[in-house]
Amino acid sequence: MQKKIYVLDASAIIGGFYSKSNANFTTGEVILEIKDLKSSLLLQSAIEDGFIIVEEPENEDIEKTNEIIEKSGDILRLSEVDQNLIALALKLKRKGYDPVVVTDDYSMQNTLKTINMTYRSVLTEGIKEIYNWVKICKGCKKKYPSDYSFEDCEICGSPVFKKRIKIKK
Ligand SMILES: [Zn+2]
Repeated sequence: MQKKIYVLDASAIIGGFYSKSNANFTTGEVILEIKDLKSSLLLQSAIEDGFIIVEEPENEDIEKTNEIIEKSGDILRLSEVDQNLIALALKLKRKGYDPVVVTDDYSMQNTLKTINMTYRSVLTEGIKEIYNWVKICKGCKKKYPSDYSFEDCEICGSPVFKKRIKIKK
């Protein structure tokens, strides 16, 4: 199976998206687009910690991207930064990765659809909620993991009940 990686545009970085279980790539140009202090600081530490890797597309990928978007007419709607980010995604695909481009930009998504490149938006998944179970004591409210195998609280002896909780990811 090909290794899934994320390719981040500025909207992804500003939205605070990066995966900790998969590698995240972006270009130096995208980084220059990040102006606000909070995003810059987050980005900087993500790069230092090795979560975000800065890489540039090669000429052949840029040429291929230009060819595609000239044909589709998207060349008018995409900035050069966007075009080069798509080229980076093509390069990573060429290197054997399975890239997912993370962007909220509609023109980008449109072009990515045209070239069968996987993409996702920042916000829809960014606020995805994951459900989990915990067990809570009716008496002292102590929380136990969902696999706590006793029916009574080990502190106060009251019954323990199961509760579904939301975890924001
Ligand atoms: Zn208790």
